[in-house]
Amino acid sequence: MKKLIFVTGGVCSSLGKGVAASSIGALMEARGLSVRMVKIDPYLNVDAGTMSPYQHGEVYVTDDGAETDLDLGNYGRYTNSPLSKANSITTGQVYQAVINKEREGRFLGRTVQVIPHITDEIKNRVLAPGKDPEVDITIIEIGGTVGDMESIPFLEAARQLINEMGRQNAISVHVTLVPAVSGGELKTKPTQHAVKELQEVGIQPDVLICRGTQPLEEGLKRKIAGFTNVEYEAVVSAHDVKTTIYEIPLLFHEQGLDTFLLKKMGIESRHADLRPWVEVVRKFQEPKSHIRIGVVGKYMDLHDAYKSVWEALYHGGIANEAAVEIVKIDSGRLEVDTADMKEIFADVDGILVPGGYGQRGSGGMVKAARYARENKVPYFGICLGLQIMVIETARNVVGWADADSTEFNPDSAHAVVSLLEDQVDVKTYGGTQRLGKSESRLKEGSLIRKLYGTESIWERHRHRYEVSNSYRADLEKAGLRISGLTPDDSLVEAVEWPDHPWGIGVQCHPEFKSRPTHPAPLFKSFIGACISSGRGARHGK
Ligand code: GLN
Repeated sequence: MKKLIFVTGGVCSSLGKGVAASSIGALMEARGLSVRMVKIDPYLNVDAGTMSPYQHGEVYVTDDGAETDLDLGNYGRYTNSPLSKANSITTGQVYQAVINKEREGRFLGRTVQVIPHITDEIKNRVLAPGKDPEVDITIIEIGGTVGDMESIPFLEAARQLINEMGRQNAISVHVTLVPAVSGGELKTKPTQHAVKELQEVGIQPDVLICRGTQPLEEGLKRKIAGFTNVEYEAVVSAHDVKTTIYEIPLLFHEQGLDTFLLKKMGIESRHADLRPWVEVVRKFQEPKSHIRIGVVGKYMDLHDAYKSVWEALYHGGIANEAAVEIVKIDSGRLEVDTADMKEIFADVDGILVPGGYGQRGSGGMVKAARYARENKVPYFGICLGLQIMVIETARNVVGWADADSTEFNPDSAHAVVSLLEDQVDVKTYGGTQRLGKSESRLKEGSLIRKLYGTESIWERHRHRYEVSNSYRADLEKAGLRISGLTPDDSLVEAVEWPDHPWGIGVQCHPEFKSRPTHPAPLFKSFIGACISSGRGARHGK
């Protein structure tokens, strides 16, 4: 029998449900089980594609081009679960599907209602990823906090599935908060209330994951267990970890969570192989060098906006046994005339320009790219960061002062980045971008080809604008090597600075596929270059 694990949250948001669900996934895989991860977002948007990063943080893109919640990024970093449209469920999708069926007359004249029609649609979607015969467990994270109106149909669907499948086959894991009041005393009352709220919708949690700043002692665990009808060994302390969130699978394992879950689900116990996680944590804790990466972007005050980029930089650090410190530089700050690039970048070993949209701050990014090129500072351009390299070359090497992307200046006489002809008339947002996995061919002799070690790569895309093909020859003459193209040669996929220690721009987003246990090749190599040619080398250290 296939198993389900529902992960819900109580007390308040931002408790790290996504990392908790992912860590459970990692533990189940370490026990040799095959896992699928599903995120439920109880908002009405059909997907996260049209949401501002300020609303929602990063939009994570899957191979099949779904624009999803950033928790799917966590799933991808901790587990081997394939991620696609089917792994991200929103209220918008569920209602859209049910209303479409109603319009097609498929309910045969019946009244269409939240229960059972919406809940049935939810149940079908929750079960779909686990249909693959090799899957043992589907872990479903229900976004939001229990008690929110929005999540009621999802909790009802979970309740029905637990009831229908039996409690040994469908498990409830609830993530709560155990706050410390002044004086440091830990308080269990919010957890008691949060569990009551879950019980009110008919779900008895099997496991409680208690977030807090300090470890939960045995006495408090017993107290929580006693008040909530949860077994003592299923009350797990999820206190703040020392160095990295990749410690969390180990923290849960030390408290026997995986053993408990297997026992509860009646799965024969197997040896847990956690060596890859132990190794990741060791490299984090014993770095051999320390480097600083200046990331120049426009959503710098919102940490989650570039979540996968931060994580991929840390993975590059793991691969090189280096501690990576991220220096967030608001690109707007570089635009003012008095901004002194030498001073701003004096302390960084490498510069990264990540993805982004809109004109604001783009001039500052061009300045950062120029500084990196001229001063031989390693530079990594991702998506918009590639387009910035192209604009920078056109302006400062070719000499077209007005060179730009039509996204930033529709009237530029040298639109080196622009929409494809067949895109110009597109007026709607959502689904109008180049999204998901596609193939790039890497040129013989290029650095990027050497780093991937293969001619053909399949990375994920999310963008609307392209390098204008009519300017390719001018750019190459000016020294910008075009090192990657689509298989039909129609689109530029990668560029690099040949006479430079490390200057690469890619139109794709390699950060989405990076994992702590398998760092993405470009991040690994970029961090390596920052160690060997960065601040230390420049300052003669
Ligand atoms: N704004 C640019 C485009 O749409 C880059 C997008 C991105 O960086 N993801 O092409």
